[in-house]
Amino acid sequence: MAALNAHAVLQDTFGYSAFRGQQQAIVEHVAAGGDALVLMPTGGGKSLCYQLPALLREGIGIVVSPLIALMQDQVDALLQLGVRAAFLNSSLDAETSRSIYQTLMRGELDMLYIAPERLMAPGFISTLEQVQQRFGIALFAIDEAHCVSQWGHDFRPEYRQLTVLHEQFPDVPRIALTATADTPTRNEIVERLGLEQAEQFVSSFDRPNIRYRVALKDNARKQLQAFLETEHSNDAGIIYCLSRRKVEETAAWLKEKGWDALPYHAGLDARTRQTNQQRFLREEGIVMVATVAFGMGIDKPNVRFVAHLDLPKSMEGYYQETGRAGRDGLQANAWMVYGLGDVVSMRQLLDGGDTPDERKRLERQKLDALLGYCESTACRHQAILRYFGEQHPGNCGQCDNCLNPVDTWDGTEAARMALSCVYRTGQRFGAGHLIDVLLGKSSAQVERFNHTSLSTFGIGKQLSQTQWSSVFRQLVAGGVLEADMEAYGGLKLTDEARPLLRGESEIWFRRDAEVSNISKAERASRSKEAYAGVNDDPLWLALKAKRLALAREQEVPPYVIFHDSTLLEILNRRPTTLIEMGRISGVGQAKLAHYGDEFLQVLEEHANGA
Ligand code: ADP
Ligand code: ZN
Repeated sequence: MAALNAHAVLQDTFGYSAFRGQQQAIVEHVAAGGDALVLMPTGGGKSLCYQLPALLREGIGIVVSPLIALMQDQVDALLQLGVRAAFLNSSLDAETSRSIYQTLMRGELDMLYIAPERLMAPGFISTLEQVQQRFGIALFAIDEAHCVSQWGHDFRPEYRQLTVLHEQFPDVPRIALTATADTPTRNEIVERLGLEQAEQFVSSFDRPNIRYRVALKDNARKQLQAFLETEHSNDAGIIYCLSRRKVEETAAWLKEKGWDALPYHAGLDARTRQTNQQRFLREEGIVMVATVAFGMGIDKPNVRFVAHLDLPKSMEGYYQETGRAGRDGLQANAWMVYGLGDVVSMRQLLDGGDTPDERKRLERQKLDALLGYCESTACRHQAILRYFGEQHPGNCGQCDNCLNPVDTWDGTEAARMALSCVYRTGQRFGAGHLIDVLLGKSSAQVERFNHTSLSTFGIGKQLSQTQWSSVFRQLVAGGVLEADMEAYGGLKLTDEARPLLRGESEIWFRRDAEVSNISKAERASRSKEAYAGVNDDPLWLALKAKRLALAREQEVPPYVIFHDSTLLEILNRRPTTLIEMGRISGVGQAKLAHYGDEFLQVLEEHANGA
C-alpha cells in the first residue's frame, strides 16, 4: 500500500519515474515508521529520502539542517513542486518568523526546515508538542548528521541535544543523513543521536558520473584555457587555487579572456562573497575561482566541472571538492594539473606551520596518499574508493588512466643517478640545478659551485630535461626525496633513498604522456551520451534562457525551475504536447501546469525557425 503510494507521489509530485539506488527501501522503511541512518554521497538523492515519507505520512515533516543558505533553495524547490514548505532560521526577521509560526500552528505546512539552534530555543519543543497533538508530526529528518561529531570541522553543539526529539516524541520516526562516510563518524552519529535501533543504509561512495583527470602541469593557464574552451564553453564550474592572490589573479585573467569568472576567498568582505556566491547560484555559466573557503553547503546541482590549479591537501579534500561537480548525475569533469613545484611547495607549507609534530606527521601522510593517487596508474575511481575502504567492481572505462593506460618504466638506474647527484651536491639544491648537472649543462650556478667537476656531471644525457623533471617529481611524490625547509626547498634524501642507492630495491615510474584534453573527435564520438556536445546547441541555449527568465521573475535559482537533466531530456525528446511533456523526468504536475506551455513554445519556435 505504502509502496504504491510512494510511486504515485514520486511520479505526480516529483515527476520522477523511478527511485535511485536505495531510495525506495529507505522511503518505505521510514514511511512505515522506522528510524534510519542514511549514508549516501553528494548527489545521491538524499533529500527525497525524507521528503517523500514526510508527504506519505500524516502530519508535518520537520527537517533539521545547519545550512542556512540552503534552506531557502530547498524550500523554493518544494514550493515549485506544490509542496507546502517553509523554513525558520536566523536569517528571517521577527515578523516573517511569526507568520511562519502561525502557518505552522494552523496545520498548513507539509514540511518545515529549521536550524538546530531554533529548534533548541526555549519553548519550541512545547510548540512541537502542540503540533503533534493537533496535526501530528510525520518525521524528524536530521540532515548533515555528521555535525554531531566534534572531530569534524562542521561540529554543531546543538546537534548533541537532538536526542531530545526521541525522548519527547518516541513514536515519530527519525532519519539522519550524511555524505560523510568514515566509520568513526558513523559510530559517533549513532551514539550521539541514540540511533542504535535505526536501520543503516550505506550506499557506495562512487561518483560514476565524474570523470577524474590528473594532468602534468606544463603551462597551467594555457592548459586551463584549452580545457575550458574545448569542454566547458558555457558551463558553470569551480576552479580551486591555494592562495588568495592566485584566486584574484586567475579570476582577473579569465575575465580578461572573456569568461564570466568571479573570485571567492575568505579575505574578501562578506558582501562581495555573498554577491559572488549568489551570482554563481542564480546565473548560468559562472566560473568561480576560489580557495577551499568556497563550497561548504553549495548545493548547485549543475556544476559541470571542478578544476584544481593547486593540489588539495588530502584525498578527503580532493573527494569533497571534486564532489561538488555533477550533483545532478549528469556527466561532470574533475580536472587537475600538478607538477614538481606543487609537490615541493605543498610539503613546505605543511612542514612550515607551527602545528604540533604529530599533527604534521598526519598531514604529511594525508598529502602522501594524495600524491600517490596523482601518480597512480590505476583507474581513478578504483583508487579513490580504495582509499575510503570500498571496493570498486572494475575499471570505470572513462577516467584518464582507463582511457589512456599509462606506461611504466624501470626507473631504478635513473633514480640512482638522480639520488647520487643530490648527495654529491650536498643535499641543498632544487631540481632545476640538479637537472643541469645531470645533463652536463654548465650554468652560472653550476660553475659557481664547481659542480662541473663532479662524477655525476653529465651522466644523465640519455634522458631529456622533461624526463628528469618527471623523475624528480615522482621521487618527491614517492617520498624518496624531500624538500628541505632550511635549504629553501632544496632536495635531500630520505631513508627511502638508501636501498635504492645500494641497489637493493628497484623503482618504476609512470611515463608521462603528452597531456591532452579530450579532443573534438573524441567528444563527437561521445555525443550520444547524456551531456557531451550540447553545450553550443542553439535550442539548448534557448531552453536555458527561458529557464533563466522564469527563475529571475521569481527570484529563485534556475535549477529550482528545472534541473539540467530535465532540460536535457526536453532537448532530446522534443515533446510537442503537454502529455508528452509530463513524461519527462523532473516534470511533476505542478511544474507541468506552470511551465509546460512556456517550454513547448520555445520548442515550437525553434522547430519553425529551423
Ligand atoms: P544529495 O542531497 O544526496 O546531494 P539531492 O537530494 O540534492 O542529493 O539529489 C541530487 C539530484 O538527484 C537532484 O538533482 C535530484 O533532483 C535528483 N534526484 C534525486 N532522486 C531522483 C530520482 N529518483 N530520479 C531522478 N532524479 C533524482
Ligand atoms: Zn577509470
